[in-house]
Amino acid sequence: MTNDKLTFSVSTLMEKPMATSESYTFDAEAEFEDIKAISNVTGKVSVMKIDKGFNVITSNVDIKVAFECERCLRDFTKEIHVPAAERQFYFTAPENIEDPADIFLIDKKRQKIDLTDMLRQEIALHFPVIQVCSDGCKGICHICGNNRNEKSCNCEDEHSSDHKPFAGLKDLLK
Ligand SMILES: [Zn+2]
Ligand SMILES: [Zn+2]
Repeated sequence: MTNDKLTFSVSTLMEKPMATSESYTFDAEAEFEDIKAISNVTGKVSVMKIDKGFNVITSNVDIKVAFECERCLRDFTKEIHVPAAERQFYFTAPENIEDPADIFLIDKKRQKIDLTDMLRQEIALHFPVIQVCSDGCKGICHICGNNRNEKSCNCEDEHSSDHKPFAGLKDLLK
């Protein structure tokens, strides 16, 4: 059964013995804070009953995200893949936790867990380190504002000597 939401009922699992687990697939509309999702988020989740709640393992999570190129400022899209992630969801927040952002709570009233925050964290962790539309992106000329992927300008050449303030430093350090 494929879930079209990121919330999963744990009502039946609550009654089961420890270490019982259930697996689901999901294909859900993605609404993550600070992430420009342009596709559904898909993947698998396995929920296992543990002492104080549930151990949750997601696998093969995929989503398409829009980014702004750091060099030319154009939007580009990239498929983000999260191979595997694991978190614990608790009935009550454990004490002495270093980072409260790592704590996930079970919605006791509705007997549900919500994977939204867990997936948001994991997807953000798998963002490209350098967000550029392509390796060869030439970016925007910082002098005339021209997008240098579309046409070249001679600004850099004319001013190149002014824009290397440390060019002479190398010689000084020799
Ligand atoms: Zn670019
Ligand atoms: Zn220019």
